[in-house]
Amino acid sequence: MTAAMTETAKIRLADFSFRYGKTEVLRHISADFPENRLTAIIGPSGSGKSTLLSVCNRLWTEMPEAKVHGKAAIRLAGEWHDLCDRQAPSQQLRRKVGMVFQTPNPLPMSIFRNVAFPLKLAGVGDREQIRSRVESSLRRTLLWEEIKERLDVDARRLSGGQQQRLCIARSLVLEPEVLLLDEPTSALDRTAAAGIEELLMRLKSDCTLVLVSHYLEQVERLADQIFEMSGGILCSLETG
Ligand code: ADP
Repeated sequence: MTAAMTETAKIRLADFSFRYGKTEVLRHISADFPENRLTAIIGPSGSGKSTLLSVCNRLWTEMPEAKVHGKAAIRLAGEWHDLCDRQAPSQQLRRKVGMVFQTPNPLPMSIFRNVAFPLKLAGVGDREQIRSRVESSLRRTLLWEEIKERLDVDARRLSGGQQQRLCIARSLVLEPEVLLLDEPTSALDRTAAAGIEELLMRLKSDCTLVLVSHYLEQVERLADQIFEMSGGILCSLETG
């Protein structure tokens, strides 16, 4: 399906540019990423894909060298938030914009505590609420049936694909509205990658997904909208 510009935008960029010091990395980007759709960004290494993700969760504000121009905004709980304002608070925003990386990065603790960790950081103290949100997150990532008998096991003992689904569950436990995925299947074998793809197809019914991928075939299978990044310029590709 081709996402029309008339769909509700979740992230909107208008003549947006980004520099690290004097080096311009993103150039005059204008694009809408629609709500509850999967937008994919392909393109060679070093073209600016991860930098664009770091704009979407305001991670760029942690980098003193980074400078932004133009407009970038995200709509959370119906309200637009400026992604270009370095001074705006980021903590709440980052709870609603999850991030999943190329290499699964479980914390050195049990499966249960990994998924519960963001809730603890967010100050959720009610044990029953924590238990039920962890279970629901693990169900959403199709892990629950596989691991419900060994929630106390160290998460690093899971397979690569299970670890990545666990990391997605850890992001989902805060009920994010947007999930940013930076090459989430690159470190996995084909079977595990297929499991993540199936999961993404399910998640996009109630979460906006932005997927950076090296694999055109993969994004053609999954994406509602595809962009190609080249030298910091973002071009729309037609989807089938
Ligand atoms: P991609 O994700 O497409 O591989 P990146 O967004 O990681 O590309 O990088 C885009 C360009 O920005 C590259 O030339 C990279 O070297 C540069 N870059 C990335 N991060 C930084 C940084 N923290 N400081 C300076 N330059 C950076």
